[in-house]
Amino acid sequence: MRTPTPASLCPELARVLSTELRRGNVLARQPERTDWPARGSVFASLRHDFRSDVRHVPTPLRHGLCNDPHYGWYEELYCEEHGHLLVAGSPRLGKT
Ligand SMILES: [Zn+2]
Repeated sequence: MRTPTPASLCPELARVLSTELRRGNVLARQPERTDWPARGSVFASLRHDFRSDVRHVPTPLRHGLCNDPHYGWYEELYCEEHGHLLVAGSPRLGKT
């Protein structure tokens, strides 16, 4: 990743983020423009697992598991409209 620039998550992910913070989750990385995974992407990460029901999110959000220590998080929410990404938790090997 290149040097990040502070930025704001798109409205769909910002809504999820504010719910998470209200439920006591903590930002491990503030939203930053990373241009990854897409051009214009803003990336943010939460220290703990998602505390809201992110497996049933409306489009354009897409939920995924990324249980891969190379990346360093467990679950992710990707906005297909804006290319923004909000991730949460830590990889748990041997678990899905
Ligand atoms: Zn969006």
